[in-house]
Amino acid sequence: MSVPTIALNNGIEIPQLGFGVYQVKPDQTKEATLTALEVGYRHIDTAQMYRNEKGVGEAIAESGLARDEVFVTSKLNNGFHAHDDALHAFDESLERLGLDQLDLFLIHWPLPAIDVDFVETWKALEEIYASGRARSIGVSNFQPKHVRRLVQETDVVPAVNQVEVHPFLTQDEVRAVNAEHGIATEAWSPIAQGLVLDNPVITGIAADHDKTPAQVVLRWHVQRGDIIFPKSVTRSRVEENFAIFDFELEEAEIGLINALNKDHRTGPDPDEFNWIP
Ligand code: NAD
Repeated sequence: MSVPTIALNNGIEIPQLGFGVYQVKPDQTKEATLTALEVGYRHIDTAQMYRNEKGVGEAIAESGLARDEVFVTSKLNNGFHAHDDALHAFDESLERLGLDQLDLFLIHWPLPAIDVDFVETWKALEEIYASGRARSIGVSNFQPKHVRRLVQETDVVPAVNQVEVHPFLTQDEVRAVNAEHGIATEAWSPIAQGLVLDNPVITGIAADHDKTPAQVVLRWHVQRGDIIFPKSVTRSRVEENFAIFDFELEEAEIGLINALNKDHRTGPDPDEFNWIP
């Protein structure tokens, strides 16, 4: 089973399915990531905030895979939005990961109420991109108005916008604005941390396809064109979440799942989240 790739707006190819390591404990991260790489995942999504970049780097080194076979994303932590802090924090990420280049580096949250304007932060990411040490740069949790400001006021259009998306939060507006600017949507918490899995519409479609509810929801994301990286430290679930390329949902089934939207966030509202760890 091979994972399709999506071409970002700078031509870089990203595997549409990856492995997320949010809430994976630092001392479990190497093992969990190695399991994912063994199963076949070739895209890992970490962040400075997760405090587990070191384990991700160790797993990649131990896997025996060539560097260009694994797509690695990390994200700038909230305390480092000032220009020089962002440059320094990026270098520290590379060091912890044991890499000399990231495939994708994101501003983790827009933090609209802090002193540092995210446009300043983005200019630091543009410098990192120009230096070649990040093959692509993007944002996370940016609302439509934040995306529009970056597009209007800076030179490099983000390659991705990583936002919370799942059947209870379909994010039609932000996905449309991303698409309008050629920005790929990455869907975080793709199964809403399990919350959507016992919904009868989803369990019904799963039974019809002889697949699990998680597989149906992940397949729904894939057919909508978003990039996903479900998280699990349980090998059987890591395998289950990877086995989504041998069946197809019908348009009507996708419509039924779209209709489950209730604008329900499991995570913070980016307009109000200004937390610095
Ligand atoms: P998720 O939707 O991937 O759910 C993960 C949880 O669901 C697991 O802890 C496990 O309990 C359960 N699970 C996983 N597979 C399952 C299966 N097959 N059957 C039943 N239960 C299963 O949620 P997430 O970890 O929050 O999101 C995925 C990734 O998105 C993260 O690891 C991280 O990389 C990224 N993320 C980014 C942000 C951001 O602000 N940019 C925020 C949250 C998550």
